[in-house]
Amino acid sequence: MSAKLLVISGSSGVGKGTVIKSLLAKCPNLNLSISCTTRNPRPGEENGVNYFFITRDDFKKGIENNDFVEWAEFSGNLYGTRQSYINECLSDDKNVLLEIETQGALQIKQKIPDAVLIFIAPPSLEELEARLRGRHTESEEAIQKRLDFVKLEIENSKKYDYVVVNDTVDNAVNQILKIIGV
Ligand code: 5GP
Repeated sequence: MSAKLLVISGSSGVGKGTVIKSLLAKCPNLNLSISCTTRNPRPGEENGVNYFFITRDDFKKGIENNDFVEWAEFSGNLYGTRQSYINECLSDDKNVLLEIETQGALQIKQKIPDAVLIFIAPPSLEELEARLRGRHTESEEAIQKRLDFVKLEIENSKKYDYVVVNDTVDNAVNQILKIIGV
């Protein structure tokens, strides 16, 4: 069986992180891809663990060198997946999971049609807004920007292979396990 590329997106605050953590714990053969970003690390985040935190100049060089299989601007910062990183994992016969936003996910689908795209949706927009504010990690302006982006993401999710509603983490994880055949 050849290695699979799985792409999971979901609006900020939708609980993606928890779902993905549980998924990774249940699937030892699934490797989470580490993205590059120009945003600053949040407290507790480590370079090479959560992201590769790089400068905007280095990111732009990466774009010019075609290092990224996909990249996008989100909330004023650049995020991208390095092609070499995915190749390494796939050549080890490991399945690879990308946790990226929707513009990047659709670039992946165009380049790698076999990739499976899953969108994690909140039970409701009101609940999503409450979860976002509950994190207390960002300014009002940043939260507003993220909420505006949610509309675009929901529009883009219509092109995904699957939409999974995160009503409870267990339900969402079980649905994803079924989709990937575990
Ligand atoms: P955060 O700054 O909260 O970690 O991530 C913001 C958004 O960027 C999330 O929706 C996350 O999925 C997305 N993201 C993270 N890494 C990548 C990437 O490599 N490419 C793209 N297109 N989006 C990413």
